Amino acid sequence: MNQKTSQTAKTALRGDLLDFSAAPAWGAEDDAAVRFRPNHWLLIDEQGRIAGIQAEEPGPEYQRIDHAGKLILPGFIDTHVHCPQLDVIASYGSELLDWLNRYTFPAERRYADPAVAHEGAERFVDALLAHGTTSAVVFPTVHKGSAEALFESARSRGMRMIAGKVLMDRHAPDGLRDDVAQAERDCVDLIQRFHGRDRLAYAVTVRFAPTSTPEQLAMAGALCKADPTLYMQTHVAENRAEVDWVAQLFPDARSYLDVYAREGLLHPRAVLAHGIWLDEADRRVLARTGAQIAHCPSSNLFLGSGLFDWTAAREAGFAVSSASDVGGGTSLSMQRTLADGYKVQALGGRRLSAWAALHSATRGAAKALGLGEEIGSFETGRLADVCVWDWAHGPVAEQRDTVARELHERVFAWLLLSDERNLAQAFVAGRSRFRRG
Ligand SMILES: [Zn+2]
Repeated sequence: MNQKTSQTAKTALRGDLLDFSAAPAWGAEDDAAVRFRPNHWLLIDEQGRIAGIQAEEPGPEYQRIDHAGKLILPGFIDTHVHCPQLDVIASYGSELLDWLNRYTFPAERRYADPAVAHEGAERFVDALLAHGTTSAVVFPTVHKGSAEALFESARSRGMRMIAGKVLMDRHAPDGLRDDVAQAERDCVDLIQRFHGRDRLAYAVTVRFAPTSTPEQLAMAGALCKADPTLYMQTHVAENRAEVDWVAQLFPDARSYLDVYAREGLLHPRAVLAHGIWLDEADRRVLARTGAQIAHCPSSNLFLGSGLFDWTAAREAGFAVSSASDVGGGTSLSMQRTLADGYKVQALGGRRLSAWAALHSATRGAAKALGLGEEIGSFETGRLADVCVWDWAHGPVAEQRDTVARELHERVFAWLLLSDERNLAQAFVAGRSRFRRG
């Protein structure tokens, strides 16, 4: 742990504590995995770790912060989001491939400038915290400096961050392509300097199959095989035109997912965004390799990409977390993301409970990333990444909250009606990193 987290004073937070002891059952409104402890104190030790939960007010050795009447949750984990795309969030009228060329690539090219990369990373990390997201799996750009800037911004705030320089050596404009040898040198250097330091971890970051040559994919796979503690992040089967393009580029692959599987890029630390256009064989491969899907409902709706089949994922047995995918997604708010997740499942005739939704952005995401011992719940010993939320913001939500009869109804309404305006305070490893006003 770095100096900043070790200097924390003992802190106690009072509020309505909500977390999970296990994965809730799908669709169940009553679930033993839900731990709701209203008007309790969350105790945080000097190292920024959770020391316990109690109903009685703690003694004067604790700095007491009274948020009585507010909802306290583990900090959200956003498992797929793009730092440089804050500049193109909410860009009009495009599907994935056109959207990349028209909006995203020009925005990412500006990150060649270290000053732009630094300012963008600072703005991005503060924006995450102001939305109640305390951990994230992030794409910077192809530029090595963009990954350095992101790691440094996360480190200075004590945040858990998983990121890596984006690999793309073809089908991208000038100023956004690397080559295999230079990319490998950059990855190795970044891994040595950042992976496993403080709360940072390196992800071998393949943008998506079309922008890497087979040689670059092989290099990425070799990095993963050489060090199984590395993460891998990429996109898969987001959009039908993209899937068709991959089939043309990789005629020997059985499927889009198979392009990654053949190179050894699927493993328990692999996070693949979207996974809409998968088949049963792909789902079995995900389950067998331990790779997970970062479901991005806001982005999938906004870009018209398709509807993710969460039921098929559950039946196949691979992990699914929820992610904003800004700037394809239109908000960094995980409540808005989860609300869209509910609507995507509703379009498929399925019901996502508030518990399953919240779990996918807290304990479930932590577990899928292999970080269940560090984040995602209020178990004793976890780092205190904690957010304090207003139960309601504005008269409509206040009235809805007042008339809610039972807990699932209340939390579901909160999830559908709240956003970053509800955030009162955010703690990272026990230190306050955002406070409204
Ligand atoms: Zn993405």
